[in-house]
Amino acid sequence: MDNQASLDTCNETPRILLWDIDGTLLRSARTGAFKDYTIPMLEGVFGTSGRLAEMKVSGMTDLQIVAEALRPEGFTHQHIRERLDHLRERYMEEMHKATSNGEEFFQVLPGVREVLQAVADHPRFQSALLTGNIEPAAYLKVELVGLSEFFPLPGAFGDESHDRRDLPALAAERIRSQLKLDLQPHQFIVIGDTPNDIASAHHFGARALAVGTGRLYTTEDLLECSPEAFIPDLSNLEGVMQTLASL
Ligand SMILES: [Mg+2]
Repeated sequence: MDNQASLDTCNETPRILLWDIDGTLLRSARTGAFKDYTIPMLEGVFGTSGRLAEMKVSGMTDLQIVAEALRPEGFTHQHIRERLDHLRERYMEEMHKATSNGEEFFQVLPGVREVLQAVADHPRFQSALLTGNIEPAAYLKVELVGLSEFFPLPGAFGDESHDRRDLPALAAERIRSQLKLDLQPHQFIVIGDTPNDIASAHHFGARALAVGTGRLYTTEDLLECSPEAFIPDLSNLEGVMQTLASL
């Protein structure tokens, strides 16, 4: 057994947890509530929201959502990239407006806070965000539900690619650089609620922990994608920590 394998057996090598947000850490109090801000954002930037109103978007990056919504209107990836700064600005204006009227907009999912605290307290684990949300929207969501303190490492976000599979490598490079550690892909664990989360983990060589708290996909849908582990939700702290220790 080489040194790396022996360290792995002892569970002493660091593991970086890359957390999806929507359907994994939190969910909107109302189904489809994200359209409250994304439809006016698209109308403000492009003059149309295309087919967004009829789309189901779970597991997609925001850039991918915008591209698919506007494709029937003739907008290309290039058109969207050219307006990315304006898009980010309008997105956050509309999101602040939609989430500041006193209504509870996002809810933390069961067990999330306890698991984030336990991994923060555990020497083997560190956490970052890996989400389809544009970066400022991601940080606003975790701030609105009081989870900001748990993500000290740099992550990767939905304004960086149309393809979620690109995101783990981007996050990993930033994290290696910040920690000055030569982390291998298998030391990253992507935690998410959709087939796209699992695909992004495997594309990079990371492990995938699927959680069954998303609104769009069933347990069977997720298991078909062969995640390294599946848990129905994060409410059993001991079970979650045992699962993470096995990955
Ligand atoms: Mg999700």
